[in-house]
Amino acid sequence: MGSPLHLHLDPASALAPSVASHSFKLLLSSACVLAGVTHLAFGVLFYQAQVLPMMWVNVGSVLTYVLAAALLRRDLVALAMFLMIAEVAAHAILAVIAVGWESGFHYYLLIAIPVYLANQVNKWPFKITFAGLIAVAYLLLDWYWRKAPPHFVMPPDTLAYLHRFNLATTIALISGLTVLYVHLITQAEERLHELATTDSLTGLLNRRSILAALEREQAVRERKPHPTSVLLVDIDHFKRINDRLGHAAGDAVLCAVSRTLQAKAREVDRVARYGGEEFCILLPHTLHDGALQAAERLREAVCQINIPWGDEHIAVSISTGLACAAEPGETLQALLKRADEALYQAKAEGRNRVVLAADRVNRSRQA
Ligand code: GH3
Ligand code: MG
Ligand code: MG
Repeated sequence: MGSPLHLHLDPASALAPSVASHSFKLLLSSACVLAGVTHLAFGVLFYQAQVLPMMWVNVGSVLTYVLAAALLRRDLVALAMFLMIAEVAAHAILAVIAVGWESGFHYYLLIAIPVYLANQVNKWPFKITFAGLIAVAYLLLDWYWRKAPPHFVMPPDTLAYLHRFNLATTIALISGLTVLYVHLITQAEERLHELATTDSLTGLLNRRSILAALEREQAVRERKPHPTSVLLVDIDHFKRINDRLGHAAGDAVLCAVSRTLQAKAREVDRVARYGGEEFCILLPHTLHDGALQAAERLREAVCQINIPWGDEHIAVSISTGLACAAEPGETLQALLKRADEALYQAKAEGRNRVVLAADRVNRSRQA
């Protein structure tokens, strides 16, 4: 019987439908080969049992899978999918009528329904109609052919083997499809999570993620006080790079700076693209001295970047505003505001430098 594995739930499908349909096509092609070979074996079995009409049914099935494979090669995936399910259904019905309910061929009808409904290449009205027809066929077989005498009476041993084979294949197919389905769902979830939390250009965490990380950090600090520092980093004169060398050069600079920041930050630090050419870095358990050292290390590393672009090499520098939260109590917004003001000061003082924001306590004293 056929085994049209086909769940078209590729996690990449939202972004790269051609890749998704390619993998689905491969899956169907493999199913064609597997089903074709299985039906060949069944053909031989029925020939040996001298059930010649069923031998010819299997020959027809092999030819159907050859046709389906040819359709897949021509990218007629929806038609191939329909043909394969139609083969499974027709074959199961004919086999039950020919050699009896006890042969266990009816199990395949039960698999064909969810498999056909889950495919994403056929349209819903068509899927519902066809799956409904298969369901009706199953009910009719169950109602009439369960007790009806078969056209060809097979030796009891052969019939028992056939039943066990069909049952085992059905269990294997259901298990395999379930594992495949869960695997694809998990992959899709992971991909969606990645899309929602990372920046597509640089691969760094995005603004939403870093804000969530900062909020988590604040909550932890409220319960178990510890120092935390935040860096706001902005590429200097980035607009000039875009204007002079084009947007692609700007993107290359963004990627190079991101790689450097990520590589030079500690593993516990969270590096994010905060906006266009701005980055936000969370340094947990770090106070003034440590944070200043880290910020200087990052600044120096970015100064070493040299991006070959056409005939020239792009040099780049960053300005950094650093705010440290020594005690709990300061809101996230206030901490970021202090870092932003320090960044503004770094720009005003000539760029390519780190400015440490005045502490919250000192500030309130000054005020
Ligand atoms: P400053 O030293 O004061 O920060 O000057 P600047 O030129 O870096 O700052 P400005 O804010 O004037 O310019 C930032 C530019 O970043 C403007 C915007 O077009 C560009 N930009 C934002 N996002 C992207 C992006 O994803 N790719 C590229 N190539 N450019 C971007
Ligand atoms: Mg900026
Ligand atoms: Mg800038």
